[in-house]
Amino acid sequence: MPSSSSSSVKITTLVVNGLAITSVFFAGVLGWEKLQGNDLDLNLAATATAITTATPTVQNQSQISVELPPIAANWSQRAIGIMRTALMDTDIPSRPRVDVVTYTVEQGDSVFSIADNHGLKPETVLWGNFEILEDNPQFLKTGQSLNILPINGTYYEWTESDTIDQVAAFFKVEPKTILEYSGNRFDLTLSAEEVEIESGTWLIVPGGSRPIKDWGPPAITRSNPASAAFYGPGHCGAIYEGAIGTYTSVWPTPSHTLTQLYDPVVHRAIDISGAEGNAIFASDNGVVVYAGWSNWGYGYLIVIDHGTGWQTAYAHLSAVGVTCGQSVYQGTRIGALGNTGNSSGPHLHFEMVFNGAKVNPLNFVQ
Ligand SMILES: [Zn+2]
Repeated sequence: MPSSSSSSVKITTLVVNGLAITSVFFAGVLGWEKLQGNDLDLNLAATATAITTATPTVQNQSQISVELPPIAANWSQRAIGIMRTALMDTDIPSRPRVDVVTYTVEQGDSVFSIADNHGLKPETVLWGNFEILEDNPQFLKTGQSLNILPINGTYYEWTESDTIDQVAAFFKVEPKTILEYSGNRFDLTLSAEEVEIESGTWLIVPGGSRPIKDWGPPAITRSNPASAAFYGPGHCGAIYEGAIGTYTSVWPTPSHTLTQLYDPVVHRAIDISGAEGNAIFASDNGVVVYAGWSNWGYGYLIVIDHGTGWQTAYAHLSAVGVTCGQSVYQGTRIGALGNTGNSSGPHLHFEMVFNGAKVNPLNFVQ
């Protein structure tokens, strides 16, 4: 942190001024019997915040920090006219970060751990970095520079044709939420109509949200396997008859250890640990409706339609041991665990779909 004696002097002056204001304030409230202790605390907090706002280059907090007297506890004393002297010994509350900072991805990081370390939701990490991660947690790579938003929400690059109402509505917030957020540095004296935003400006949208693109395979049933043609060369073509599921699901791997839990927004699957080449089992009876390479980061992929409203998907495989239309049976080997596609190490990415919706496999595998 930069430091200089002149900045310290300036800060001290500000603090002394703040104290003077505070003292005048105390004197003012002495005769104001209706004032509640809580209100007074709030006002003092506002004063302290104002001081803090003006002190971005504090070098030695212990020299300039100020203890504000414990007001509520001494209310009766002040009521009879005894003033306490302010003590020079309190922490000035630190100002919350309002700017976007950059974080370089390290070995072993995940979208989840990065979010957690910055007090954010994982979707905020994706929303802040669409150009790098494209909504896909699996696109994370060591050395990438990620935007870390100061607050949960979305990050948006303004274009010429945008209006604040449209952008706010898109992210499901009020325009003033964007305009009044201090990190966006708008002139708060201007009305929403008066604000001009330059094309290319990045805006923080506190509390904003938008759907995350699901890069997983679509729900493929045995009656429509060709609908997955866009998904990659592993798609199947015809309509298949075959084995029907038991409505039960077994673990698709010898290991039952998860390396990544299900998340309803950013990871609608579980990742199961294992070594390259480990057996992958069919979770239930069914028909293979996708078998082969996928174009969207999932590497070699198998999808089984169980004919019961359920489908299961097995991604990042090193080998695919089944073909389109083949009937498979619960617990039989269908392929080998791998690290293909956008994968940061050998594991099985396992998805379960029921009536078109992805569900948490952990609630169903036995
Ligand atoms: Zn996964």
